[in-house]
Amino acid sequence: YPTSDAATPSIIDKLVSGGADVRIDNQRRKQVIEFLSTYVLPLVMLANLFALVFVATKGGGGGLSGLSEFASIGKGRGQGDGGGVTFADVAGADYAVIELREVRDYLADPSKFAALGALPPKGIMMFGPPGCGKTLMARAVAGEAGVPFFPVSGAEFVESLVGVGAARVRDLFRQVRSVAPAIVFIDEIDAVGRRRGGASGGQDEREQTLNQLLIEMDGFDATSGVVVMGATNRPDILDPALLRPGRFDRQVTVEPPDFDGRIEILKLYAERRPREGEVDYANLARRSPGFTGADLANVVNEAALLCVRREKAAISMAELEEAVDRVISGPKRRGHLMSDEERRRIAYHEAGHVLVAAATNRLADVPRVSVAAHGHTLGHTAARTWAEQTLITRSELFSEMTTLLAGMATEELIFGEASTGSEADIERAGAIAQMMAGRYGMTEAIGKVPLLRNEGSGFLGSELIPAETVGTAELSVLHSETARLVEEADQAALTVVERNRAVLEELVALLLEHESIEGDPLVAVLAKVDAGAGRARGRRRAAANAAGIML
Ligand code: ADP
Repeated sequence: YPTSDAATPSIIDKLVSGGADVRIDNQRRKQVIEFLSTYVLPLVMLANLFALVFVATKGGGGGLSGLSEFASIGKGRGQGDGGGVTFADVAGADYAVIELREVRDYLADPSKFAALGALPPKGIMMFGPPGCGKTLMARAVAGEAGVPFFPVSGAEFVESLVGVGAARVRDLFRQVRSVAPAIVFIDEIDAVGRRRGGASGGQDEREQTLNQLLIEMDGFDATSGVVVMGATNRPDILDPALLRPGRFDRQVTVEPPDFDGRIEILKLYAERRPREGEVDYANLARRSPGFTGADLANVVNEAALLCVRREKAAISMAELEEAVDRVISGPKRRGHLMSDEERRRIAYHEAGHVLVAAATNRLADVPRVSVAAHGHTLGHTAARTWAEQTLITRSELFSEMTTLLAGMATEELIFGEASTGSEADIERAGAIAQMMAGRYGMTEAIGKVPLLRNEGSGFLGSELIPAETVGTAELSVLHSETARLVEEADQAALTVVERNRAVLEELVALLLEHESIEGDPLVAVLAKVDAGAGRARGRRRAAANAAGIML
């Protein structure tokens, strides 16, 4: 090797003069590689690193907010107006549709409400199991009013980065306001709307998102024309702040259709398709208790598929029957079908509730009782809530407990034993009893001493914690007083049910036939209920005196 480049030419000269064949490789490739590895490669790696960080944040919609990514929530979806769906596409859910008509009226002409100073519906919360048509109904409202529809899922707002969800909510509402009147539909709202202030940490993001949602909703006025519709299957875990007036203050329960509802839904779907022969809808509805609207739509679809497979031109009863069986056994069906025995039990349970609710004046203004629901809440009885009350008297609390325990008491009376269906009932009744004894000073044994601190803001569902000064002795009195209140309410429920056995049987027969009863027919049956008020009160007072409670 030459020691320096200066020597190179003389070496070459020597070699050439000696007769050697000299070729010169000036190492250009090596230079290129050297250049790439010292300058380009680090740059590429840096750029990659940036891109990685960027994608990570951007996936969350941009901690680098202002970037258009999070605007994609609802973007381009708000253009439609519910996809041309109207109330005519919703069957077997008349009670829910009635509630939604007013929203339609408002959206169609918000100025009419503003002129009268009427407060518009701002938020409608739809409760019900999946597949019962919550999305469909929200779409139908948009379709009927001819306004844009913005569907989002609650889960889309929940991100690991604090602040992103809130930014998304802000952006979504900015977008919606610019095209108002419009509907925002938040599916699975429980993902954001869960009760705040839980013990577990790391909930900041969800809380911020929820707060932002509440702020946005508070910001509407009568003329804004924005209606937010939320849907959830878990009303029990929602933050109470969401359901306050001015937010989601209307609540619509969307349940699986009852017998008549199922007939209507089947008809709706079947009659849009070519059919042959008589279709016995009542028969199909009888064979599909507990089916949701989505299941029934699926039945008709399965029947059509069967026809395709059999190369038939029209759907007949045979295919529909087979389709019902397919959907029952199909993998898509959540939950299970109720057996007749279960249905009978649920009917008695619910009839017990409604009977005692009527006897103790705890029936909702629009009474309704249904055994069509399944899954989370088996049956359903519309009982009065405390929402519109500031003060609740002791006897009202006691009546509520009685009504709650009536389902279980009836089951025990009729079947000789209880079932697991009363879980939520006894939990709520127990909570009321505990409140009465430990917070409201409504028992004599404890007296007017609050043994429990209320850690929440609400009435029920807030966490009760023993006050610091309370010892185990007091807690055991609290426990026995709670148990005694529950026991007493249970007895009271049993008394009412026993006294009204005939009405009970009548209700059960109606429920087994129609699956749900509401309005006038229900009121007519319940008019026969013997509340035994005077006697019951007298007896209760005597028992209470003996037991040392104030009534
Ligand atoms: P949810 O939002 O309650 O989970 P969806 O609205 O998504 O339910 O319902 C799914 C499908 O089931 C709808 O698109 C519709 O085809 C059908 N469906 C459900 N309920 C009804 C109903 N009451 N009337 C007509 N179709 C229904």
